[in-house]
Amino acid sequence: MIEILPDTACMLYVGSMVIMLLLAWVRSVHKERKKILQYTHSAIRCEFCAASFTNTRTGPLSRCPHCGLINNAN
Ligand SMILES: [Zn+2]
Repeated sequence: MIEILPDTACMLYVGSMVIMLLLAWVRSVHKERKKILQYTHSAIRCEFCAASFTNTRTGPLSRCPHCGLINNAN
């Protein structure tokens, strides 16, 4: 039988908290990456010249290759 000292219990507690925080962080990063991918592969129609193109930028804003003006992907 393994004897659990208060120090060991504290270390286990802190360790599990660190793991939970790490998991939450990884999950948020994954979510953010998914969002970026959604923007990156979305087809956009230019608001100004009506040309359709694919968003190659990692964000909601993209520049039209035809007229050079910035469009909002939403
Ligand atoms: Zn345009």
